Amino acid sequence: MLSTDRSLPNTGHRYVPQITSLDIPPSPNQELLPLTAKVNSSDNLEIGGCELRKLVEQYGSPLYILDEFTLRTACSQYRDSFTTYYSGESQVIYASKAWSCLAVCRIIDSENLGFDVVSGGELYTTLEAGVDKDKIYFHGNNKSVTELEFAVEVGCTIMVDNWLELKNLVQIASAKSEQPVPIMIRLTPGIECHTHEYIRTGHLDSKFGFDPNQLDEVFTYLSQQESLSCIGLHAHIGSQIFERQPHQDLASVLVDWMKKAQGYGLPVTTLNVGGGLGIKYIESDDPPSISEWVSAVSKAVENACNQAAVPLPKLIAEPGRSLIGSACVTAYTVGSRKEIPEFNTYIAVDGGMSDNPRPITYQSVYRAVVANRMSAPITEEVTLAGKHCESGDVVIKNAALPKTEPGDILAVMDTGAYNYSMASNYNRIGRPAAIVVYEGEANLIIERETYHDLIEQDRLPERLVKHQE
Ligand SMILES: *Cc1c(COP(=O)(O)O)cnc(C)c1O
Repeated sequence: MLSTDRSLPNTGHRYVPQITSLDIPPSPNQELLPLTAKVNSSDNLEIGGCELRKLVEQYGSPLYILDEFTLRTACSQYRDSFTTYYSGESQVIYASKAWSCLAVCRIIDSENLGFDVVSGGELYTTLEAGVDKDKIYFHGNNKSVTELEFAVEVGCTIMVDNWLELKNLVQIASAKSEQPVPIMIRLTPGIECHTHEYIRTGHLDSKFGFDPNQLDEVFTYLSQQESLSCIGLHAHIGSQIFERQPHQDLASVLVDWMKKAQGYGLPVTTLNVGGGLGIKYIESDDPPSISEWVSAVSKAVENACNQAAVPLPKLIAEPGRSLIGSACVTAYTVGSRKEIPEFNTYIAVDGGMSDNPRPITYQSVYRAVVANRMSAPITEEVTLAGKHCESGDVVIKNAALPKTEPGDILAVMDTGAYNYSMASNYNRIGRPAAIVVYEGEANLIIERETYHDLIEQDRLPERLVKHQE
């Protein structure tokens, strides 16, 4: 249904890339489309020099299309901004839960970033990608003993979240490691920020981290452990945050805690301020740029250190979404159309909640373009539905689009973070393929799951096997 009371973007050029030169690329997290997006002479969208229509012909749909240039640009903007704005040592680590696979890890590793992993599986993936243990930080609020043993064997830094873990780790470290195991302590900073309840982690009522009221107890205990070396403190306040103030507040809280830890004789000289910088999913989203965020955090840490008269710590930030979110689009093929006069028009695509569970989980909003007819004027507002047996399986609720036909290619933007990594096989739909595009070349980085893949882990007990008589 065409709504008359809401102003539709009527130019048809609404999301057409405006970037004319990549000599000085904009901040990827402030763009809807990847930085290399172009409309070619046949009115088709190209990313990384590859036409989406042709990519779908070759690889099928749904298809995750990762733009290597955009990802590398976000990495270098983070890295270079810290060098510019922070006088001490710094390190940017990728929160790999946003999207962990070998190719993504290789690209980010080659940009000299480190990695935050939150499970044995993510740790394994990072190691298989060839990442050095010294660049890996192991997070999680309920690491199993097996995971802790794995991390100690590897020799990465462990972000300790709670008492149970701390005590398990003391045992494992004493038994298994000749050298003290490097750890950092995660604390709940008690800082509120405006984001979805499920992705808010900094307020005191959070499952993550030690209660700051127990600081003395934790530091006293740590100062007695020879098997552990507490090198730093960590806090993460949440995700998809547009305000700079919470991160600035966090910086001074962390510096105060560092000073306190040093008073207990702990070698705490590293502070990790977490991630959380938001990205632009829709026109009205207005996040600070990567360099603005880094500058604000760096200055806040430096000011707090000056006030507390402590030397500058090694400063770590661990962004996920703002590194990779804007670097990927998901291409779908348009299928059925259902018009309910006076109510709504549903356009269904060949994927949905199994490849992008964010709308149904967090009510997240996205934008899409018709990639094979980029200048077609926008004429209708529809509900872009998925193909799963679930009424809530909607990709975009109020999608302003040109009239689409079955077979059109829709590109949903900003699907790099928390899409593939949250994908499932609901309805026994295989997870889509993912490709990376760079300077006109496309390479497969994750195979599409086949029917056979779907039953690969299934087992039939002998008494259920159907024997042919
Ligand atoms: C998820 C998470 C991040 C990354 O958050 P983004 O919003 O994707 O930048 C960083 N640190 C921790 C501990 C996290 O849980």
